This record gives sequence, structure tokens and C-alpha cells, in this order.
Amino acid sequence: MYAEIAIPLNVHQTFTYRLPDAIAGNAKPGARVLVPFGRQLLTGYIVDLHETLEEMGQTEESFEIKEVEELFDLEPLVTPELLDLTKWIADYYYAPWGETIKSSLPAGINSEAEALLTITEAGRQALAEAKAKRPQLAAKMEALEFIAQNDQTPMSELVKQFDKPKAAAISRELQKSNFVMVKRQLQAATVKAKKQQAVRLLQQVPSEGKPLNAQQQKVIALLAESAEPIALSELTELADASPSVIRTLEKRGCVEVFAREIRRDPLAHMPQSQHPSQKGGDFDLTLTDKQQSALAEIAAKLDEDKYAAFLLHGVTGSGKTEIYIRAMRATLDKGKSALMLVPEISLTPMFARRLRAHFGDAVAILHSSLSDGERLDEWNRLRRGDARVCIGARSGVFAPMQNIGLIVVDEEHEASYKQDETPRYHGRDTAIMRAHQAGAVIILGSATPSMETFHNAHTGKYQYLKLDERIGGRQLAAVEIVDMRQVFNRHGKQQVFSDEMKQAVLKNAERGEQTLVLLNRRGFSASLICRSCGHRAGCPNCDVGLTFHKIESRLICHYCNHQERVPRQCPTCQGAFIYYVGEGTEQIEALLKELYPQMRISRLDRDTTRRRGAFEKLLNEFASGDIDLMVGTQMIAKGHDFPNVTLVCVISVDAGLSMPDFRAAERTFQLLTQVAGRAGRGDKPGKVIIQSYHTEHYALEFAKEQNYEKFYAREIHFRQNMHYPPFVALINVLIKNTDFGKAAYLASEIAQRIKAADAERVLKVLGPAPAPLARLKGEHRLQVLIKTRYRRQAREALDAAMLGLKDAQQDLRPVTIEVDPVNLM
Ligand code: ADP
Ligand code: ZN
Repeated sequence: MYAEIAIPLNVHQTFTYRLPDAIAGNAKPGARVLVPFGRQLLTGYIVDLHETLEEMGQTEESFEIKEVEELFDLEPLVTPELLDLTKWIADYYYAPWGETIKSSLPAGINSEAEALLTITEAGRQALAEAKAKRPQLAAKMEALEFIAQNDQTPMSELVKQFDKPKAAAISRELQKSNFVMVKRQLQAATVKAKKQQAVRLLQQVPSEGKPLNAQQQKVIALLAESAEPIALSELTELADASPSVIRTLEKRGCVEVFAREIRRDPLAHMPQSQHPSQKGGDFDLTLTDKQQSALAEIAAKLDEDKYAAFLLHGVTGSGKTEIYIRAMRATLDKGKSALMLVPEISLTPMFARRLRAHFGDAVAILHSSLSDGERLDEWNRLRRGDARVCIGARSGVFAPMQNIGLIVVDEEHEASYKQDETPRYHGRDTAIMRAHQAGAVIILGSATPSMETFHNAHTGKYQYLKLDERIGGRQLAAVEIVDMRQVFNRHGKQQVFSDEMKQAVLKNAERGEQTLVLLNRRGFSASLICRSCGHRAGCPNCDVGLTFHKIESRLICHYCNHQERVPRQCPTCQGAFIYYVGEGTEQIEALLKELYPQMRISRLDRDTTRRRGAFEKLLNEFASGDIDLMVGTQMIAKGHDFPNVTLVCVISVDAGLSMPDFRAAERTFQLLTQVAGRAGRGDKPGKVIIQSYHTEHYALEFAKEQNYEKFYAREIHFRQNMHYPPFVALINVLIKNTDFGKAAYLASEIAQRIKAADAERVLKVLGPAPAPLARLKGEHRLQVLIKTRYRRQAREALDAAMLGLKDAQQDLRPVTIEVDPVNLM
């Protein structure tokens, strides 16, 4: 028997190993094995099995075949479905399969193989002789003694005794002289099941001695009332008794204290959600007609048991989540399982609570901010089938559930679905592939669908469902755009806050209503804007913003490397330019506190929410009215439901609009629409104020109207004319090096080789150009951008280029390949 093994290293192929007879019978695809690789022993994954080498088109002579050393799993860890999915990712996103499999598994499971050392007979003799000679042992013999005393000494223990290089050297020497034997096994799982002290009632009255006192009786009464044992900590709290009271009861034979295994509940530490549906409970809502007919279409496809994709397009508050929940319920009723992906980790607790309210313990949560232990527990519940509903962030797409019938991707347009390290997959697109492979139904939901998704709905690839009204007929907020050029002219200098905004904030506070102030600032790139007419310096070839490079005092396009000198005057109005880099949230917060000392002002951004639970805490404070005004980044724009927020101010959208990214307009439109969805969710009408230097931009115009269709029509036109997705595929090759010369050489080699390999001339290869972050952490960054409608040819040309460079002994570690990049920063 032979096995194909994927190894979690940066290699784009699998390797063939022989399976020794002892292992062959139990080996299955998806199981982990230990294999010799070069001079190391590594953990790999079986991806395929063969009876003969010929099956693989190979012969015994063609290369030396090594043997698998150990088989770690009798029951494969990776399900066949996830093997297929990770294979697809590896091919599509140009990622090593082994690394992809590894990253699809929860961290707690991916423990490395470890060497266990056992002393041999020869070793014992040598040790005895050494001891007889002199009492002070040399380091080598000291280590041998340690191993003799601890049967199967893990290498890590030896490292604790000696330092690392020394321990390794000693272990090698001992092995060479045959004093120790080495056996390898997977390190004991780093996370273990969690235990808790609990109390069980044995008898209500002690069989002898004096009667119980009042407090002891209270404990007994509590236990008698409860059908089940009660956690020790909970019991002491409920009875207001110290643990010693319970110990006394235990001594007298009334109760038993024991350790029980508990599941780590990722929701346990979260404060109760303020979601209104939690209070009344929305189990018996009558769906609106629109909801009803959307659900009916989905249910019909669920009944067909095969792949179908929906775009559910509905403004925030239009009742999409309610549809997801019903569709999930229908899926469970059919005996299948359901997966729901949400973009932000921070949104998960709210959704999860809502789902928990509906599906109870059948819900598992998977996302990367869980502790390793929590994640492993949830993963196991899914793998075993104990949980049949999973809610997760991006990596939740790898939930190990079987028999999946429905996948929901909420806020499908969110950029955070794209992973920005290897494997660089897109969670939404991977979910579509998973649904495809599993014959499941997938629902993509959004108020502002991505251009790609709406285009797919338009061309009929997805079924289109629309909810165009808010539940309860609540109005969308009124949007006002403030022209900062006029504000500038009024005051004769640049202002952070317009008069309009200042007035609105004050009035809102007087009414006792709440305000959100949003700062849209992403990336670090500086752009050039005319302060009197709003003209923005853009690339003539690519129609994206030019990036201002201060050192060279030049404007550079990071797609095509077009360069120009910084103009003295605005070409449109001869006015002076400003460099727009924008203020930070901290600065805005300080300014607002100065302006409104009487208001309670807080800030919500990456810095203030780094600690676990801090995000929920801030949101809850805001929800309960302890904060009048909250300043924040896009984090505040998403998904939250604050009935008392009636004003949202956007400090400036210009930095976002001028981003050197062809998605700048789409992002801005989405953000503004989301933000507008935040204002006036209760019974009071909402208002949005947007400050900008170029108010005539179509993204602003249509955001003001809140008209997605018009925005789409305009934007899709631009994408088609300028050859951007969804009409072409983009592949970005990023080259980094501390040495600019080396980076530049490699970048131009890559560009040339790709062009040379493009025999059919179907690829457009742009650059090398400096990446928008041209220097980061001391490294120079260059990029080569491939635009094409022919993915296969792009892939082949890229393969040829990379293989050629590898053959030419080029170090390819500084090269990162990103397929379908969502963020060209
Ligand atoms: P979305 O996901 O589109 O933002 P939700 O499903 O969260 O919308 O619905 C918004 C609010 O309206 C929630 O509080 C929800 O409980 C409520 N809701 C949804 N559907 C109905 C309905 N048919 N009748 C009454 N209230 C509803
Ligand atoms: Zn350009």
C-alpha cells in the first residue's frame, strides 16, 4: 500500500510513502501520519491511498520511497468533504494543500509529534559504569540518568533540564551510542477537557449527630429542589454559604462533592445581549408577506436536496436574520445540519445568543478569538454530530459537520471574509464551493451586496430575493452631505467638524438621544485633494487614486507604476492642494470632549477593544444609555441595533474614496449605507451627516438616495470599462525584501516570465510597481498584478514562472501570491 501525503510546509505537491503492513489496514484518507522528510520527521495528512505505484503513474525505480513511521488517527480527523474543499482551496488560491488542511483544523488538535526517549539495556550498563567511576556525572550521563528515572521522557522535559541546543546534542549522542531508543507520538493534546466541582445530594438528614443548622438546611433545600447536582461555586453563591459549610455536610454524609466534566461555553462570560428579540423572544413572529415568499423559495430548494444559491438582498432591519433562522430550522427538521458565517468576530456573540435561543445546545460556535479549549470542544461537538448548527467567522467554513444542508453567509460583501495569510482564501467563495460539493443550499445575505455577487444574481447564477422594506415600516434615515469646501471658505481654514455637524450633535444631546461619530480611515496611504474644488489626483490608466510618496515628492499609481510630479496647482481650478491623511479616532475623541465637556463620550476602535469582552462591554454601556456619543472606526457601523441612536456623523469619507483601490467607491457606498442603517432603528427618525470635500462623487450621491441599484449600474459600468472584477480575475504577486535591488530583480523576473509563458496572450501583466505600502517593517514591497478573464491560463503561466525561478535557484520565500485580492493595500 502507498499513501499520498500532504505535508504542512510551503510546498506545492504531495509526496508518496509506503505504508508498512502494520499500518496499512487502518490507514484512511484524512488521518495524520508521521513521515520522514529530509532530515526531519513531520506530521502530514493522508490524502489518497493506492495499491500499487503504477496507479500513480510511477515506478519503484523512479525514486526512493520512504515509509510512513506512525499512524496517529484511526478515525480520520479530516472528513472526505473537507479534504475535497481544502484541495480546491489549494488549487484555486495557490496555497500548499498541507498547510491548508492544517489551518482548517482547530489549533488545539494540531499538536506536533514529539520524541519520547527510553533508556536501553546498553544505556543502563553504561550509566552504572559511569556512576561507579565517579559521583559527579558528565552532562551526557546526567541526562541518561534523568531518562532512566522517567520512562518515556518527552524531549520537551529534557529541554527543560538542559537548554535547547544542548538537549538536542545530548539526545543525538545518546542515540548514536545506542543508549536510548526514540519513539514518536503526538504530543499530549495541549488542551484538555475542563472539570468542575459539583455537589450531589445523598440524604436530606444526617443519620446521626445533632440536627442541621439553618444555613446547612438551606443548602440541602437547594439541592433537593434541583433535579441535578449543582456546581460548587454556584451553590455557595445561591445559599450564601462558604465552601466549608458544604465540606461539613459532606463529612456528615449528606452530600457528595465530585468533579464533573463541563463544556467550555464560549457564551458564558458574555453579558446578556441587548438584542430586542432576546427580551420578548421572537419565536412566534408572523413573517411578513415578503419574508414569507422569500422563505418559500428557499424551502423549495432545500426540498430538492441539491446545490442552489440565493442572494438575499435586504436593508438592515428588513428581517433577513429571521429568514436565516427559519431556513436553518427547516434544514434541521430534514435531519441535516446548517452552517452560518458572519464576518466580524465581535458580531458572533449577538447572533450566537439569538441562535442559542432558538436551537439550544445544538448550536456550536467557531471563531478565532475563542480559547483553544473552547474551540476544540465546539469542534468536537460538531465532528461527533452533537451540534448540528454552527455559527462562525471566516474559518467556520471548515466546520467538521456532516450532511450539511444549508450554508448562510451573512454580510457577504464584507472584506473580512478574505484571509490575509496563507491560505489566502475567501470565506464566502469557499462556502459557495462547499455548498456546491455537498449539494447544499447557500444564502448570501447583504444590504449592499458585493459587485461580484450582485452581478452573479443579475446573470442568473444566483436566485435573487429582495426585502425592500424595514420591519414595521420604519423609515430609513435621512442623509445630509455637508460640503467641506464651503465650510473651508466660510472659516478660511480647514475644519474637522462642520457647523452643521456641531449643531446637530448639540440638538441631539438636548433631546436625550444618542450619536455615533464615525471615522472612515483605512490603510496608511496619503492622497492629494484640492481643497477648493475637491479634485483628486488619479491615475490616467487605472482610474484609481494616486498615492503621494513624500520622500520622492511624487505621485505614484501602485497598479501600473504611472508616476508624476506633485502638481503645484489644481489642474481644474488652480487652487492649492491638501495632502489628505486624516485624523485618528483618538484625536477626534479629544476634540469632541473639548467641544462638549458635559457629554459622556467614549471611543470604540481596535485600541479600546483589544481586551476580551471589552467590545461587548462598550456596546452594552452604549445600549443602556451610559454613553451619549461614541466615536469609532467602521467597527461601529456594523450590525448593532441601538434604538436610541438618531444621529450618525461621518467625519470624512474622502480618505476612503481616494484609496488607491478600484473598490474604493464600492467600499464607501457600503459603509455609508451600513451607517445609515444604524440611525433611527427605534421609533424615532434618524439622521446621517456626511462630511466631504468631493460631494459630487456618485458613491455619495447614491448613498444619500440610498439607492443600491443606481450605484450598481454606475459602478458596474466602470468595472467593465476599466477591466476590473467581476469582468476579469485579478492575481496579485507581492514581492518583499529588505534589499530593494533584490526585490526589484525578482519582481521584474516574475513579470517577464509570466509574460513569456502567456503563449495565447490572454494575460495583462501590470507592473512591477511599488505596493501601496511601499515600505513596511523595513521591507521594500513591489507588486505584479495579473488581469485576465482566463484563470486557467493565469495559473499555468504563474506555475511556469515560479518553477522556472525555482530551477534558477531563486529564493521564492519573499513572494506572496494572492488570488482575487479584496484589498490591494
Ligand atoms: P436584518 O437581519 O435584515 O437586519 P432582522 O431579522 O434582525 O433584520 O430583523 C430586524 C428586527 O425586526 C428584529 O428585531 C426582528 O426580531 C424583527 N422582526 C423580524 N421579522 C419580523 C416580523 N415578521 N414581525 C415582527 N418583527 C420582526
Ligand atoms: Zn495606473
